Amino acid sequence: MSAMDAAHGLSGRTLFTAIFGDPVVHSLSPAMHNAAYAALAIERAYAAFQVTPERLREAIRAIPAMGILGVNLTVPHKERALRMMAYLSDEALLLRAVNCVINRNGELHGDNTDARGIEADLRENQVTIEGAVAIVIGAGGAASAAVLAMLRLGAMRIVICNRTVARANRLARGFARYLGARGGGHPRQTIETRGLDALVNATTMGAAALVINATPMGLKTGGFAPLSYAAAPATCVFYDMIYAREATPFLAPAIALGRRAIDGAGMLLHQGELAFELFNGVAPPAGVMRVALMSALGRG
Ligand code: NAP
Repeated sequence: MSAMDAAHGLSGRTLFTAIFGDPVVHSLSPAMHNAAYAALAIERAYAAFQVTPERLREAIRAIPAMGILGVNLTVPHKERALRMMAYLSDEALLLRAVNCVINRNGELHGDNTDARGIEADLRENQVTIEGAVAIVIGAGGAASAAVLAMLRLGAMRIVICNRTVARANRLARGFARYLGARGGGHPRQTIETRGLDALVNATTMGAAALVINATPMGLKTGGFAPLSYAAAPATCVFYDMIYAREATPFLAPAIALGRRAIDGAGMLLHQGELAFELFNGVAPPAGVMRVALMSALGRG
């Protein structure tokens, strides 16, 4: 049954989940979640709501009032929503961002599945970073998720490169506390911060095993910041959190050089599968959300 068929099956008993974003019209989450509802044959549906930042508080307050089971938050709401939850998971607190709001008997619990999403995607793609150097471009919520995933995957040195270095420093300080409190684990792990000029530094790029774009560069802006792809080792993997039908502006030069390039579709899929289970208390049937996403991306 297609997502459209599932929507036609709405009744007085249908329970809802949703995504709030601004913009939200291009979101692929409804296609993924509704495909899983159709496969499970349960009376649930996933809707997309265009919610402006000014009205986010009102929209979040409406979740228990309307009996919505759970809501994904996307740009620009993830950080602002932190203060609107009754409870926060340790991961949402650490990342200072919420991408899943779960309605538990009228109380709103904020969680974040982005780090687990990128981690699962890197594992699935057999990208190993244990003991190696990872460059994370950006210092917002997505970059924060990338840094946590890098720490969990055992990267030895993480270099955060951001346009605003002060913001990268804030992000690094948050993780320094986490690394200190965690003890054990990978005691030699370090986090450094740089400006975007580090992306054309042969020494920095020459040490990288993985370069992750966690900014909207290339999506909102036409091109990407200057980056020395050729200075990176031949085995370096380029990962863009942005996903598109065509190669993204960050990945296109890497592909042209024959480097391994992965876009954010897999991350979107894995964070979505985790969100589905949090909202519905049941895992999506294997492969269903993937097929819906790939078909929406024209990769069917
Ligand atoms: P955000 O908080 O808005 O991130 C902004 C970051 O991007 C900041 O570090 C900012 O630098 C930088 N930036 C923005 N515009 C820039 C420009 N023109 N030039 C240079 N740097 C720029 O957003 P986010 O929530 O972290 O998300 C970042 C990206 O990841 C988005 O494109 C989002 O769609 C994607 N994402 C994908 C997934 C997935 O599942 N695939 C999940 C989460 C996010 P300053 O600090 O200097 O402003």
